[in-house]
Amino acid sequence: MNKRILTGDRPTGKLHIGHYFGSLKNRVKLQNEYETYIEIADVQALTDNFNNPEKVRNNVREVVLDYLSVGIDPKKSTIFLQSMIPEIAELTVFYSNLVTIARLQRNPTVKTEIAQKKELFGESVTYGFLGYPVSQAADITAFNAELIPVGEDQLPLIEQCREIVRKFNSIYGETLLEPEAVLSNNKRIKGLDGNEKMGKSLGNALYLSDSDEEITKKVMSAVTDPNRIKKDDLGNPNICMVAYYHALFNKENHKTVCEECKAGKRGCVACKRELIEKIKEELTPIREKRKYYEDRPELVDEIFVTGTEKARKVAKETMKKVKKAMKLDYFE
Ligand code: ATP
Ligand code: MG
Repeated sequence: MNKRILTGDRPTGKLHIGHYFGSLKNRVKLQNEYETYIEIADVQALTDNFNNPEKVRNNVREVVLDYLSVGIDPKKSTIFLQSMIPEIAELTVFYSNLVTIARLQRNPTVKTEIAQKKELFGESVTYGFLGYPVSQAADITAFNAELIPVGEDQLPLIEQCREIVRKFNSIYGETLLEPEAVLSNNKRIKGLDGNEKMGKSLGNALYLSDSDEEITKKVMSAVTDPNRIKKDDLGNPNICMVAYYHALFNKENHKTVCEECKAGKRGCVACKRELIEKIKEELTPIREKRKYYEDRPELVDEIFVTGTEKARKVAKETMKKVKKAMKLDYFE
């Protein structure tokens, strides 16, 4: 049997080009070689959106549409909803004994995210948010996944999962698989504002479903070299987000773009216009495919329900093994 992959996204917004270059393109390729499970992590999304259930609910469908629009094939990949798999919640409770609060507080990703969410959490973070790496370890192990394709921000979470697996196996006997992270070549796509990470919750994203007008508006106001005022000023493409996105959407001309910018031979407006055209070229077929599925809601429902049922069966099998190992196998 092929190795199993687990990936997923939080339904906190539509998917953006960070997801596209950082993970979706990779997933579309990997689904041909591996048994792929893709989780819409709505329970995890609630950890920092507990006060906004509508947002999470509405974005579940948006994320499924984004998957289908980029070429995730439901015949090859199992798309499922986290909250419909109660075994994940059950595993989370068992694993919570195997990790200390200090260890969670030291997790660099959790640390950064708590700092970004001061407005929501104030001085004291919730138990649920601090513990989301434990729940993520349950997501991964429920499906016996060996490979986890993720962006760079997820590495500390995979490491934490590996520790939980080792601890579980050493106490209760060899039961769980230790997963491995797989990084794509674009492990962290920067935001339109120059932030190190484009993120749905950071307000700096270019979405796969953005209209031509939105693309134009966003690229026109993206962060560029602040010292470059006139066309013939010598530019620094290393601090310009437009040059940065040329490397993704206009790979063949990226070198020329940078050379002309440095030599003061390329105006920022023309440079932005060229990028906008390239982005439209790449995103138009994706948006068309999205429209196809938007017009067929029953088809999307069917894909989602079938995927969730299939995933639940796998999680139930894992649960049986885990309960047996933990001496919790009382009766059916
Ligand atoms: P949020 O801001 O709500 O956390 P997000 O944009 O970080 O949303 P997630 O759903 O948390 O998106 O992440 C899903 C997957 O996409 C993860 O594997 C993550 O590493 C990857 N990813 C997210 N943003 C980027 C990015 N800018 N570059 C590369 N990969 C990314
Ligand atoms: Mg995130």
